[in-house]
Amino acid sequence: MAKFYYYNKNTDSKGNHEVHTEDCSYKPDVSNRVLIGYENNCQSAIQRVKKDTGKNNFDGCYFCCNDCHIG
Ligand SMILES: [Zn+2]
Repeated sequence: MAKFYYYNKNTDSKGNHEVHTEDCSYKPDVSNRVLIGYENNCQSAIQRVKKDTGKNNFDGCYFCCNDCHIG
């Protein structure tokens, strides 16, 4: 099911921006998140945000994007 994906403006302890779905309880505050877009899964959301930002440091949230969670 497609959802809106966001990433945290701040990086985590490993220097990655965590990627969340719209319905995640751990999604950052409005002021602290950036919309990636409407995507079918976390893989395509992360692929899109890497392309959009030109950065590689994104990691899926353990809770909502476990398939894309690296560490
Ligand atoms: Zn999440």
